[in-house]
Amino acid sequence: RTVYLNGDYLPETEAKVSIFDRGFIMADAVYEVTSVIDSKLVDFAGHMARLERSLGELGIAKPLTTDEWLAVHRALIEKNEIADGAVYLQVTRGNGGDRDFVYPPSDTAPTVVAYTWQKPLLVDNPDAQRGWTVISLPDIRWHRRDIKTVQLLYPSMAKMEAKAKGADDAWLVEDGTVTEGTSNNVYIVKNGRIITRELSKDILHGITRAAVLRFAAEAQMEVEERPFTIAEAQAADEAFATSASSFVMPVVSIDGTPVGTGKPGPVARRLREIYVEESRKAAI
Ligand code: PMP
Repeated sequence: RTVYLNGDYLPETEAKVSIFDRGFIMADAVYEVTSVIDSKLVDFAGHMARLERSLGELGIAKPLTTDEWLAVHRALIEKNEIADGAVYLQVTRGNGGDRDFVYPPSDTAPTVVAYTWQKPLLVDNPDAQRGWTVISLPDIRWHRRDIKTVQLLYPSMAKMEAKAKGADDAWLVEDGTVTEGTSNNVYIVKNGRIITRELSKDILHGITRAAVLRFAAEAQMEVEERPFTIAEAQAADEAFATSASSFVMPVVSIDGTPVGTGKPGPVARRLREIYVEESRKAAI
């Protein structure tokens, strides 16, 4: 693979970052994952807007303009011949010298990394036919989940626990209600109404979430933004999750209880179809 590091395109084996980098020492870094369909970027502007916000919230300098980011994304797609897959990018606060809780001087150059991966069955994902099973786990993450940091150890542990229990993902619960999946926003459908938690610092403001809610409104589907419990989700007609890498993913059981028929439901299927179709059209 050819990857991007601080202005250069390099073979992945030659891309090296300092052991003093604050991304490595302190998870002092933010990231984005943008899907690629037919060699084009899905929701690129949304991902760039969120990146800028994440950087701003942490006071990390903005290393590239949106046009420069677009050029990097396109170059990586071309150099790596990506048809379906994703572009990952990460910006860290840079080399902080000896480990220190105090940030390095504000003129420290951020470290900028980007690379691609292929995902041939991105659109025709067999998981979407089958639907995911999920377990619930406590949400013990920090309280700025609206910032897309690389501090992903707990989501990773939760995913491992889900896999160990034979499930596909975990839905995280705080104060009795569901916040998110390990790496996706979550929804239930009851009597035709789509219910999903409102935006706040408790959840990541999903770019796919924004698109799906827009498509739902355009298709005259009713949407209610509020928290829900695991019990309410288990008693719902349908459940699903959204993210840039899984699009719209039906969820067919929660803690061993089938949701609705226990099969992917019509609302999730329809939203997935619309999402793929519209994303294909709008991709750049
Ligand atoms: N919540 C969390 C915790 C995530 O990690 C992700 C995926 N990055 C999402 C939600 C979905 O966001 P998006 O639709 O922008 O991929």
